[in-house]
Amino acid sequence: MNLLRRVLLLTSIILCVFTPAFAQVPRHDFPPVGCWQVLCGDFHMHTINSDGKLTTRERVEESYKVGYDVIAVTDHGKPRAYKVAKYVGEPLGLIVLPGFESGVLGKEHYVALGVPPTFKPRDPHRWAEKPGQETVYYQDEMRAIAEAGGILLQAHPPNEWREPTDWGVKQGVVIGVEIQNGYGKDGDGTGPLGGVHCYPHSFDWALKHNLALFANTDAHYSRREGTQPVTLVFVAERTAAGVMDAIRARRTVAWFNGIVCGREELVSQLVLSAVEVRKSGATQLSMENRCPITFKAQIDNNVISLPPYGRVSCDWRGGDEVKVRWLNVWTSPTSNLETTIKLSQPQLVQNLK
Ligand SMILES: [Zn+2]
Ligand SMILES: [Zn+2]
Repeated sequence: MNLLRRVLLLTSIILCVFTPAFAQVPRHDFPPVGCWQVLCGDFHMHTINSDGKLTTRERVEESYKVGYDVIAVTDHGKPRAYKVAKYVGEPLGLIVLPGFESGVLGKEHYVALGVPPTFKPRDPHRWAEKPGQETVYYQDEMRAIAEAGGILLQAHPPNEWREPTDWGVKQGVVIGVEIQNGYGKDGDGTGPLGGVHCYPHSFDWALKHNLALFANTDAHYSRREGTQPVTLVFVAERTAAGVMDAIRARRTVAWFNGIVCGREELVSQLVLSAVEVRKSGATQLSMENRCPITFKAQIDNNVISLPPYGRVSCDWRGGDEVKVRWLNVWTSPTSNLETTIKLSQPQLVQNLK
C-alpha cells in the first residue's frame, strides 16, 4: 500500500471511530441577544490532577460532547491542566480558560479564572484568616490572583456571608458566585428554588453585591447523561478574552435543572430574543423557541411548555398586548420574569450594557 492510500485508510478509520460520538453533541445554539452571542459554559471541574477521576483529555472531550462552548478546568491548587485542556479543546472549537480552586482553611472555596498557568497558588484551601500565620493570609493570596489578571467566584457557598468574601468583593477580585454546583447540589447551604435544589441565598448575594451568577458542574466523576448545569455567558467575541470580559461585566445567567436565574435585564433580553410570539389566525398565538431551554410560560390561566427549538400554539382571545409570566425564569429567589409583548410590534431587544 502506498503512503497516500495508507493515510486515506487511516483517516477513514479515525472518522468512523470518532464521528458518531461527536455527532451526538446536543444542539445548544442561541440567537444573538442584541450585540451579544450567548455561550454555554462550565467554569468548575476536576481531573486526576486533583481529586477528579478523569484525565484532562477525557474531561475536555466529555465537556465538548455534553454541549459546552467554554470551560475552565479548576483542580485544587493546580492550574496545570490548562495546557493539555487547551490543546485538546481548541481543535473541537472549545474555549478554554485557565483556572484552579482554592480557599480559606476549613471554610470558603473559590474558583480562580484567568490567572496564567504559570501562577503558583500558595497553600491551597489553607489560606489563613489573619496575617502572620503559618499559611498565606487570604488577602495576600487574593491580591496576588488579582495582580496576575485573575478573578474569583465563590463555589458552593455556605449560608454565611463572611469577611473573606466581603473583603474580596470590596476589592473587586471576588466578582461571581455559584447559584448551582452540580457536585454538592443538595448539600450544605442549599435550598429549593422553583422546586430545584441550589443556593438561593447566593442569588440574593449576587443581586445585592453585583456578582456574576454561575451554574457549574464541579464534576469529579463522569458527568451523568442529560442536561448539565450551564453558565450562559453573553460575549462580544467568541474568545477567551471575550468570555473574561463578559464575566467581569457580570453578563452571565445560570441555567440548571430546568430553571433560569439571572438579573431581570439579562433574562428578559434572553427570553425576548429566543422566543417569538405571534398572532396566528383570529384566535391563536404561535410561540417559537429558538434556543435549547424549555420554557414554561403562563398566559392568563394557560400554562404552556415550550420545548427547545420548538413551536407551540395556544388559544388567544385578548387584544394586542400579551402578558407572559415565565414560570421557570427567576429574577430573584422569589420572583419570576414577566414580560409584556405587543403583537403589532416586533419584539424589541435592547443592546445591553
Ligand atoms: Zn470546592
Ligand atoms: Zn471543586
